[in-house]
Amino acid sequence: MNAMLEATAVRKSFGATQVLNGIDLTVERGSVVCLLGRSGSGKSTFLRCINHLETIDGGEITIDGRHIGYERRGDRLLEIREREIARRRSEIGMVFQRFNLFANKTAVENVALAPVTVKGTRPDQARRRALELLDRVGLADKAELYPTQLSGGQQQRVAIARALAMDPKLMLFDEPTSALDPELVAEVLNVMLDLAREGMTMVVVTHELGFARKAADRVVMMHDGVVVEDGPPTTVFSVPAHASTQAFLSHWADQSIETETK
Ligand code: ADP
Ligand code: MG
Repeated sequence: MNAMLEATAVRKSFGATQVLNGIDLTVERGSVVCLLGRSGSGKSTFLRCINHLETIDGGEITIDGRHIGYERRGDRLLEIREREIARRRSEIGMVFQRFNLFANKTAVENVALAPVTVKGTRPDQARRRALELLDRVGLADKAELYPTQLSGGQQQRVAIARALAMDPKLMLFDEPTSALDPELVAEVLNVMLDLAREGMTMVVVTHELGFARKAADRVVMMHDGVVVEDGPPTTVFSVPAHASTQAFLSHWADQSIETETK
């Protein structure tokens, strides 16, 4: 079994609102899946279920063959301890719409923090690695600046470096460019494109169709709590099988930001 992420018949309700209605999704190791769907279709909820920030009501999610919040005993799933959940969760990098950097820490301190506190990495080692990662996202010269001294696009690139510092097996992105001014979107998408090309396994919730076309191995469309479309971008974008996909594509097509063209 080679899948990095395997979600089967995932169900989730909030009170009477059924948000996930039996989601099936497989993400192969080293592949990039872009998750599309209109606002309220359950994309963020699904990402939060993947790293067990939300519990699920039915179905199963495994990362690299293992549950994040449960241990299988025979045919039963038993909840495991919070500490072990946190350890397993740290194998998944998450980048949100809002950057959530620590305001009182510099860029390099933000990136170096979790490896020291969660993994016990030596501070000097964590710092060296953090500087490498900042270089990788094009911010070598901003390492000693505080978040307020950085643009939104730069802050989001720090957030990506911070997630990478934990050596994740899987990266989840939840509309990472939606809160950015349009002129700052491309610099973040280009970092994500590089990451995709280097073989990182990624699930990306985005409206950036240009990015999806270039980076995604598959695009997956969610509608009414289920997956209604799952295929390579060339197929889904040219011959969408579901009416909701057509509506989504025509809405976002004009607003897509151009990334690098190599
Ligand atoms: P998307 O990310 O696709 O816009 P969400 O996953 O954020 O969608 O939300 C899907 C639905 O679930 C929405 O109707 C939203 O109001 C509801 N929802 C999300 N989180 C909660 C929560 N913690 N409590 C109650 N309802 C929620
Ligand atoms: Mg959302």
